[in-house]
Amino acid sequence: MSLLLDVRQVRKRYGGVLANDGVSLQVREGEIAGLIGPNGSGKSTLFGAICGVFPIDGGDVVFEGTSISHMRVGPIARRGLVRTYQQTRIYGEMSCMENMRISSRAAQGNVLSLLQLKARGHERHAEDLLAFVGLFEKRFEMAGRLSFGQQKLLEFAMALMSEPKLLLLDEPTAGINPTLINGLVDRLQRANKELGVTLLVIEHNMRVIMNLAQHITCLAHGCVLASGAPEEVRNDPRVLDAYLGAQ
Ligand code: ADP
Ligand code: MG
Repeated sequence: MSLLLDVRQVRKRYGGVLANDGVSLQVREGEIAGLIGPNGSGKSTLFGAICGVFPIDGGDVVFEGTSISHMRVGPIARRGLVRTYQQTRIYGEMSCMENMRISSRAAQGNVLSLLQLKARGHERHAEDLLAFVGLFEKRFEMAGRLSFGQQKLLEFAMALMSEPKLLLLDEPTAGINPTLINGLVDRLQRANKELGVTLLVIEHNMRVIMNLAQHITCLAHGCVLASGAPEEVRNDPRVLDAYLGAQ
């Protein structure tokens, strides 16, 4: 499998906090890669660094052989690298889906129109994706009235609308009830297999990520602690220590 994303020694500082301290990881085309680590270990920061949310303080991010570390979110997304955010919630009056830049008016629009915000005239594609995530029946409902779990599915469908090559998902199962988690995991696997989307997934649920990912990187204190096959990482004493120490 060819290398899609090559993160090289990325550093990101917030004032006195070194959130990413020389992080390197690779994602190969076609795989589902996992990113784990205790709270505050720098996972979401790394997503921001990869997607151009802020300039990095050192290192390089290479996507399909091109350095993107000097680019911002829009141009990076147009190259096919898209992320979702942790704890996204679409409200009746407003939305905090900052990456999608949804206006308060749009959040009051129905699910189908929301999906076409960035791709007008692609109604058929939007309907297909809503069917794919299991929200076709809800297509004329107001987005803000969906349950939290349904909103996560909607956000996933919105991210798929642009047909990304690489999709970064920040804790997609957080806040979703256990029965919906299996359905979401199944959708992630199908997006990977049937739609050909490579995935890099931050996940706090160990059972989920061990079943989902073919390769896992574990961060601790802004550094890579371990990287390898799920069984290797799960049994790595340093990883066990980092999780136990964080509790
Ligand atoms: P994770 O996603 O692994 O929980 P984060 O990347 O969110 O970790 O955070 C890594 C570290 O950076 C933490 O110490 C956190 O408090 C700090 N941090 C994250 N975002 C900011 C920010 N916008 N400003 C200042 N510090 C931040
Ligand atoms: Mg986070």
